[in-house]
Amino acid sequence: PHAPIETDALIVGAGPVGLFQVFQLGLLEVRAHVVDTLPFVGGQCIELYADKPIYDVPGLPVATGRELIERLVTQIAPFTAPLHLGQQVDRVAVRGDGRFDVETSAGTRFVATAVIVAGGAGSFQPRTLKLEGLDRHRGSQVFYRRPDAAHLAGQRVLIAGGGVDAVELATSLASDSGNRPAEIVLMHRRDDFSAGPEPLARLAELRQARRIRVVVGQPNGLVEAGDRLVALEALLPDGGDAWIAFDTLVIALGVSPKLGPIADWGLGIQRKQVTVDTERFQSTTPGIFAVGDINTYPGKRKLIVSGFHEATLAAFAAAAIVHPDRALPLQYTTTSPRLHRLLGVD
Ligand code: FAD
Repeated sequence: PHAPIETDALIVGAGPVGLFQVFQLGLLEVRAHVVDTLPFVGGQCIELYADKPIYDVPGLPVATGRELIERLVTQIAPFTAPLHLGQQVDRVAVRGDGRFDVETSAGTRFVATAVIVAGGAGSFQPRTLKLEGLDRHRGSQVFYRRPDAAHLAGQRVLIAGGGVDAVELATSLASDSGNRPAEIVLMHRRDDFSAGPEPLARLAELRQARRIRVVVGQPNGLVEAGDRLVALEALLPDGGDAWIAFDTLVIALGVSPKLGPIADWGLGIQRKQVTVDTERFQSTTPGIFAVGDINTYPGKRKLIVSGFHEATLAAFAAAAIVHPDRALPLQYTTTSPRLHRLLGVD
């Protein structure tokens, strides 16, 4: 294994608050790495409402979730904090020297002086099907996101789901001229799909052209032959059942946040939120802070603007640990030559 990455601060979560945390730490010369389970930054703003407008971020009368995140990414660019996406922080443990050992699901390891948990509603996990044996085939025949195109060419692909992810995956695979699967089956419990008018029209067209077959049914079991999956057993609306043969199964049921491993790091937790003080936004473990939707304290409101304030004060507290010998005076970005140098706006 590679040597662990040494960093001043490790930020768990790349939602709006985790991103702004990079900025506030950067102004105090605290270097940070950021980890998120999702393969992209933005947390709820991207996963849940990328195209919906937000009206209550100060100075931004209106911005969609995606626009807010794009602006945050631009704002933090001067600090070049490395992002480690598509991996969950599984383990955080105090070391003998007072720093923290951190490890992700991808095996990335860090030694961090401070840990800032910006985990929001929790780690976004794909919703799954409760079918015996499914996990054994994850990554070879079972996927939760679009697999590599080359993996699908000439294959019988079964897509489970009735939402926008499932519809868009099915229609885009059916339209991919280079690596088109041999067969695309879209399975949902009703013949009623929720997606925008355009993807739905496209789906209707491709069904008509017999490039996508829709099966109405409920997954009930998996059929294996040797060490391979060969079919999914489905309960049909008429009470019968059917085997749907496939080579690749893509489960596209969306994602839902789960508190996940944060619960196992020994932090004080109340109703699935990390308890913090309101001076430092520090958890019950000194050196581990919690900001944004993941934390709780008297009067807590789960709003982006509150998370930005929390990240600001947590940055000063983390900086006091990382640079114990330095005074941390308040400086204005408008007038401070030091901050201008850090921001690269000299
Ligand atoms: P999140 O955005 O939840 O991001 C947390 C990130 O941490 C996630 O990406 C997650 O995958 C990651 N994570 C968690 N655990 C781990 C782990 N162990 N390892 C790695 N990564 C992990 N707020 C407003 O102020 N104004 C609004 O108008 C507004 N509208 C909203 C509309 C909707 C539909 C919703 C759902 C929310 C809205 N909110 C709004 C709330 C706002 O989105 C949240 O307050 C905000 O996203 C919190 O940001 P965050 O960074 O704390 O957490």
